[in-house]
Amino acid sequence: MIIKNVRILGGDLVDIRVADGEIAEIGPGLEGPETVDGGGAIALPGLVDLHTHLREPGREDAETVQTGTQSAARGGYTAVHAMANTSPVADTAGVVEQVWRLGREFAHCDVHPVGAVTVGLEGKQLAELGAMADSAARVRVFSDDGKCVDDAVLMRRALEYVKAFDGVVAQHAQEPRLTAGAQMNEGVISGRLGLTGWPAVAEEAIIARDCLLAAHVGSRLHICHVSTAGSVEIIRWAKSKGWNVTCEVTPHHLLLTDDLVEESPVGAYNPIYKVNPPLRTRADVEALRAALADGTIDIVATDHAPHPVEDKETEWSAAAMGMVGLETALSVVQEAMVETGLLDWAGVAQRMSAVPARIGRLGGQGQPLEVGAPANITLYDPSARTEVDPSAFASKSRNTPYEGMTLPGRVVATFLRGRATVLEGKLV
Ligand SMILES: [Zn+2]
Repeated sequence: MIIKNVRILGGDLVDIRVADGEIAEIGPGLEGPETVDGGGAIALPGLVDLHTHLREPGREDAETVQTGTQSAARGGYTAVHAMANTSPVADTAGVVEQVWRLGREFAHCDVHPVGAVTVGLEGKQLAELGAMADSAARVRVFSDDGKCVDDAVLMRRALEYVKAFDGVVAQHAQEPRLTAGAQMNEGVISGRLGLTGWPAVAEEAIIARDCLLAAHVGSRLHICHVSTAGSVEIIRWAKSKGWNVTCEVTPHHLLLTDDLVEESPVGAYNPIYKVNPPLRTRADVEALRAALADGTIDIVATDHAPHPVEDKETEWSAAAMGMVGLETALSVVQEAMVETGLLDWAGVAQRMSAVPARIGRLGGQGQPLEVGAPANITLYDPSARTEVDPSAFASKSRNTPYEGMTLPGRVVATFLRGRATVLEGKLV
């Protein structure tokens, strides 16, 4: 098959010949019996998400492996890491293998289960990390995401344990006592609205502690969804020491701010903006963008968190936290980072494909689009302008904060090892 008229990372127009799931030839004027016209779209290596909630097993009313990976493919992803906070929790070899098998059977992209750090995400006893690593799912990323591993001794032991198989502990940094009952960012607006605040220090204190722990035991640490300017400063310091710390930012924390809780196109106290960690201030957003540009923040991860309508369309205090994000991630990154001149397309490819694949130790993903590489390819038209219509999502859930907003760009096609999962913006 020939993919015609594409610009690799925004470069000159070329054609790509794909054979046996790999890129066989790149050049102008390639011909063959079967062609797909890229129409001048940018070609990126297939995107890799280190932080996706697929909800299966247990909450198939919110998402399944099938619908979640359809959503991923439409967003340009060829691999996702499925977070462990399912029901049952993915804390044994049996459950991670179940998710892995569902991925092999039903998925529209590669599915890599994340293993829980502690049994039942309860923060009391280490889960079977070694058994999950040795299982068919070959788990390398471990996280209690949704909850923080707040016990310093358990966190230390997890960091020590994963060294044996080159794993990484991905921490949801939230000091629990400082955030008991928290509803939104602690600041001027939470004070005015009378909502319990989620202070920046509750994130920053855990990040500082865990950077020190990772350095102490010489292990790999990853910080999920960094959301404050202070967190960026701590991670910048840890990296300056040469410590093995990586981190992610979500698209929504690069674009949205906490004042939307008070005043927005969809009214005040709209739970569509309720997310954990919460939307922060404009100054935080500016710091996160600068840190993603300079490499202090390594990657963009969606924290795609589908919830059914009844869990979101309720009063603020009762609503579930989280937003779907797979189908809008690349557009939001274009808006926040490319249109602002902070990143070029090579920089986007690093942060949304190459580096997340490296952190997750995925061999066949995130490779540059070169001859011999797996044909994991996303075609993206940055000149398109699309009004976000959640009813068109492949995801089972609709809880997007961008409904009605016009965002730049459109995923035209996605190829997983040479097989189209999306063509002309539609699932194949
Ligand atoms: Zn989290």
